[in-house]
Amino acid sequence: MSSDLGRLLETADPQSRLFQLAVEHSPALMAVLRGLDLVFELVNPAFEAASCGRDVLGRPFSEAYPELADEAVPILQRVLCTGEPFHGTNVVLSLCRSCSGVAEERFFNLSCVLVESSDRREHAVLLVGIDTTEAVRARRRVEEMALEAQSRAAGFRDILDNMVDAVFVCNLTGRVTLANSAAVRLLGLNSVEELDRAMVEFPELLRARHMDGSRVSAAEQPLVRALAGETVVEENRIIFNPQTQQDIIVRSNAAPIRAYDGTIVGAVSVSRDITDMAELDILKDAFISVAAHELKTPVAVMKGYAQALLRCDRDVQPPQRKMLEAIDRGAGRIDRIVNDLLDISRLQMGRLDVETQRFDLHQVVAHVADRLARTTDKHRLVVAPSEAVLVHGDRDRIEQVLSALVDNAIKYSPKGGDVLLAVTVEHDEALVSAADQGVGIPREKQSRIFQRFYRAHTGTCFDYGGMGVGLYLAREIVSAHGGRMWFESVEGRGSVFHFSLPL
Ligand code: ADP
Repeated sequence: MSSDLGRLLETADPQSRLFQLAVEHSPALMAVLRGLDLVFELVNPAFEAASCGRDVLGRPFSEAYPELADEAVPILQRVLCTGEPFHGTNVVLSLCRSCSGVAEERFFNLSCVLVESSDRREHAVLLVGIDTTEAVRARRRVEEMALEAQSRAAGFRDILDNMVDAVFVCNLTGRVTLANSAAVRLLGLNSVEELDRAMVEFPELLRARHMDGSRVSAAEQPLVRALAGETVVEENRIIFNPQTQQDIIVRSNAAPIRAYDGTIVGAVSVSRDITDMAELDILKDAFISVAAHELKTPVAVMKGYAQALLRCDRDVQPPQRKMLEAIDRGAGRIDRIVNDLLDISRLQMGRLDVETQRFDLHQVVAHVADRLARTTDKHRLVVAPSEAVLVHGDRDRIEQVLSALVDNAIKYSPKGGDVLLAVTVEHDEALVSAADQGVGIPREKQSRIFQRFYRAHTGTCFDYGGMGVGLYLAREIVSAHGGRMWFESVEGRGSVFHFSLPL
């Protein structure tokens, strides 16, 4: 504070002294400017600090702050002449230059008011400024962040809306909170707003059905199950599209959305119209079925005649015998393929018959091992000793399963080695295992091994031919018996296939 004022106030009464202390410690900038030249008469420490030591006392405003004069002087003079106060919010002022010489931009809420002596002969302008720089900067940062979030959200929305797949997100209460354009199209709605409803209403609205035509209940919907923690993979449903007035087949995947602490906060599902694909599948199945039926008779004729000729021992010369044997083997191979294809089409139509009888599983294993041991001289088929294990089931079908497993164990162990077969009983199940020391199955291909027509070694040096249906049929047969099939495999070390049958 100016020394004049200091001296003046030293002689002042206690109230004035208190007032002096208040001015001295005020965080607000204060200055008194006198006369039309607006000479700095008094400034408080806050003003001095903001001016970074610029010497202003006794100097006119235009001299002390030439860079601000053009704008500020007319305002201050108007206050002085008219007595009308000036108030400005977040006024930009550069009272101070930084070390680099660049004027630092700061913001102030400014008030300029006229102060007069009681006889009205003395006039001055009191300037009070409150530094709002930090508040302005904070608000700017928030605004920038909001803008960025908005543009990110818009970008995210664009991505969602350009997706082919329909995306639905629901909250914990089971209400759809987000859906993209594909979702609206898939359900044949007019706008995304029509989706703003509770999940329980959807099955009725969409006339949702399982592939066998039975109704889908509210609890069976993928999003509802995902809310309960389930991950739903590739589930097909039929729904009615009101826009096209047609049924469509929709394939959905759904998963829970979890917060950082693992609690479920919602669910997301991704769905796709697979009607065209499913129709192609139906055509493919129909083709397989027709082709297999058409091939069955000619193959049976070929096989029958080749065997009949082979039986006429006397008339067949050794070279012809070899040819007939080759025809017989080839026809046998086609016959097995045709039977597999017929089984596939029966499975697709849900007509894979299983005739149950009681039989000794261990005996069937030993029988298959015995039969297939004759097809190889590089492998040793070892059946672990066991007592009779009696199960109920279709003996021929279980033999088909075992043949597929042992056949593969031999086929995919090109260097030979032991194929170990074992039957054990655990709790209320019979367990069968077939272990080989062959090429194994690459880890990344293991999840698809039971898929129809999937072959893990296609295009590798271990591609020994086949259609990729043996394991698919084997697992379907085992599940038709109420059992399970699984495997462990290490690439380059071998595989163990297991299946269970209820006792
Ligand atoms: P395929 O007629 O091709 O053998 P499968 O359905 O029996 O058809 O088997 C599917 C695929 O699984 C095979 O093509 C092969 O890649 C793999 N596979 C099956 N069994 C074995 C095994 N014991 N060892 C290594 N790979 C196997």
